[in-house]
Amino acid sequence: MKLCINFKNINKNNYAKFINKKNSAMAEKFKTVPVSERIVLLPHCMRSTKNCKAVDEGTHYSCVKCGACKIAQIQKLADELGYKKVYVMKGGKAIYNILVEQKIKAVVAVACHFEGAQGIKMTDGLKVIAQFVPLLKDGCCDTDVDVEVVKKIMEQK
Ligand code: SF4
Repeated sequence: MKLCINFKNINKNNYAKFINKKNSAMAEKFKTVPVSERIVLLPHCMRSTKNCKAVDEGTHYSCVKCGACKIAQIQKLADELGYKKVYVMKGGKAIYNILVEQKIKAVVAVACHFEGAQGIKMTDGLKVIAQFVPLLKDGCCDTDVDVEVVKKIMEQK
């Protein structure tokens, strides 16, 4: 696993540049999509491994806002703003099905740089407007994100 993480870090700067470029290119279009037609995709590694009370929905978790991790803040904001849904994803494969089956127009997604770059290729291919926020601390568990950055993007209209 360590080897895998090191491999991903090799291209981290390139992924970051790619993500920034794509985010900028999509920023204005993202604002035109009604909040009710946007979803938020978060990685399950952000959950508190010790205390999470999220509901296991098979391909993803539904946060119950227990407050043990930052997902609660994002879920709360999504509820207040009227976002269609927040998915705490177990893996990337199911994302494709969600985007296609629900005809999603726009996503706010949090991921490590590597997964974010892969995700952009997917959303580009599906013509889904995406705004990605890289994790501050990645890894397999208890990862972290700057909630203020996520919030700023989610509030864009
Ligand atoms: S806030 Fe949500 S995702 Fe985070 S630990 Fe609690 S139930 Fe799990």
